[in-house]
Amino acid sequence: MRPENGHQARLLRLLRDGGPQSRAELGEAVELSKSKVAIELDRLTELGFVETAGLAASRGGRRSHVVALASHLRFVGVDIGATSIDVAITDGELRLLARASAPADVREGPNTVLDQVLELVGKARSDGAAPEVHGVGVGVPGPVSQRDGAPVVPPIMPGWNHFPVRDTLGAALGAPVMVDNDVNIMALGELHAGTARSVRDLLFVKVGTGIGCGIVVGGEVYRGVTGCAGDIGHIQVEEASATSPVCSCGNAGCLEAWFGGAALARDADAAARSGRSSWLAERLESRAADGGTLSAADVGAAAEAGDPVAVALIRDGGHRLGQVLASLVSFFNPGLVVIGGGVAGLGHQLLAEVRSVVYRRSLPLATGNLPIVLSELGGTAGVIGAARLVSDSVLSTA
Ligand SMILES: [Zn+2]
Repeated sequence: MRPENGHQARLLRLLRDGGPQSRAELGEAVELSKSKVAIELDRLTELGFVETAGLAASRGGRRSHVVALASHLRFVGVDIGATSIDVAITDGELRLLARASAPADVREGPNTVLDQVLELVGKARSDGAAPEVHGVGVGVPGPVSQRDGAPVVPPIMPGWNHFPVRDTLGAALGAPVMVDNDVNIMALGELHAGTARSVRDLLFVKVGTGIGCGIVVGGEVYRGVTGCAGDIGHIQVEEASATSPVCSCGNAGCLEAWFGGAALARDADAAARSGRSSWLAERLESRAADGGTLSAADVGAAAEAGDPVAVALIRDGGHRLGQVLASLVSFFNPGLVVIGGGVAGLGHQLLAEVRSVVYRRSLPLATGNLPIVLSELGGTAGVIGAARLVSDSVLSTA
């Protein structure tokens, strides 16, 4: 099932992003004559893409029919994280109809993890939310070859290199599948349903265990020549010295080695053990009693409670992230910067520091109207963006 020409594809995307509209409104938006729009919409109805949803309010003269995406259209969004899997079923307008999630360990390899994905998709569909599936979008925590639909040398996904994720899930679910990096799908989620709805050019910065950036140009994700555009976690923030932290990539002084979930956990542990923070030391003791360790969330809680060491960790991290973002803003001139991901839970202290550095360091013309905000979608940006990714493909001609 595919639209047959560019006009049909445009009409379908207008209905996906704007909801039900009258034939007259659609005609104006695509600049086609009444009769031509009627022909294309009739064809899309025959193909099963759209349906009539009653009559529009009168604008004088004959009332126009309201058209909507077919109510049976279903997309599946899958967000595979390092430690969890989230699955959602959406309708054609990418509204969430059902969700399922479970803890998972991506290091257990593709066979185990994709079995879990299929189980969760089955669970989300079990109440009849999706008798058929028209497309499946998948995000994974590593670089992806779009051509092969497979991860490529993903650092935190042992066993996944070149594993055919797209073809495996496509065969199991009998639907087209698209795979992308998790940061890119979160950027698409923001573009579809978040603060970025009205913006065409934006940066989405994910601060999780590591740090990455989704680049949206003219409403489309920019992936670079080999798919690793936006890998800002490995930008060197200062000249490496003997005291620079070593990064998971092997280099020293990367942004991610200074800041991010893993770096914060490491620094919090050191502050607790050295006695510099009694708050974190106490928290470490109670975590250790259950066999656990300190995490970035503990640093957030400590800062909230006024612990000066935790406040300084967030401020230093925000400062380094801000330094990198200031350069990116001068280079890219985006209309919006959204910060999301687990560590974005550090919230307003982090945001304040990032803002102050970016506004001070970037060119005034680039920052004059530049909002820097925290994501409002929370955990749903990934699954909505994954559904959006595959819908872009299903609702296009090729
Ligand atoms: Zn690195």
